[in-house]
Amino acid sequence: CGIIGYIGTKQTQNILTAGLKKLEYRGYDSVGIAVHDGESVHVRKTEGRLSDLDSQVKESPVAGTVGIGHTRWATHGRPSNENSHPHTDSQKEFAVVHNGIIENYLQIKKDLIEKGYKFQSETDSEVISHLFSDLFDGNMVSTIQKVVRELEGAYALGIVSQYEPEKLYAVRQDSPLIIGAGEEENLISSDIPAVLEYTRDVYILNDGEMAVITPEEVTLLGVDSGNSIQREIFKVNWDM
Ligand code: GLU
Repeated sequence: CGIIGYIGTKQTQNILTAGLKKLEYRGYDSVGIAVHDGESVHVRKTEGRLSDLDSQVKESPVAGTVGIGHTRWATHGRPSNENSHPHTDSQKEFAVVHNGIIENYLQIKKDLIEKGYKFQSETDSEVISHLFSDLFDGNMVSTIQKVVRELEGAYALGIVSQYEPEKLYAVRQDSPLIIGAGEEENLISSDIPAVLEYTRDVYILNDGEMAVITPEEVTLLGVDSGNSIQREIFKVNWDM
């Protein structure tokens, strides 16, 4: 239902939870974050309210300067801790937040289970993290191309990878996603208000586009072509 992501020089945990608070108005039944601490991905997630996630991270904080967060409005699989996002593959090589609906997830799930993949949730979204594991070819951009080629439906995705933890990835089709371009930090979000504390320079991601994001740089690529896209910065001149 709502996606937030951060890469930069600051500790990301509280930036993610503050961003999720700004996306609260969209409605949600579960919340979660995944942070890469330089060694591995750590997930904190729960059914319920942001305050439930806040107490979880207070008890068990996650360090790191790259991460993704999600507020879920359940479409496939009831609200539960397991069905909350982010979802990972079994090895935690990929953490994914998904906004939208994957129409053909049952077929994908069946194929992956036949290949030996083990699922933790009842969601449509979890197929995406296992697809990353199944299709990873050593290059995140071409792997994203391969993964989304398998997906039918609507999606905005935020992705953190064990293989390139110094980058944050995003891709969208029929679900909203914007990128906030800051100073030595960049964010992704479902909506502009969640990034305004950090920047007023925004890139609107269009359908069929992906973003490769480092603290210094935002590169937009066409998913089909793989070609880079020049996009004007949208200057936000209104207040919330
Ligand atoms: N379809 C996904 C789920 O049920 C994502 C829902 C959302 O956009 O919050 O987990």
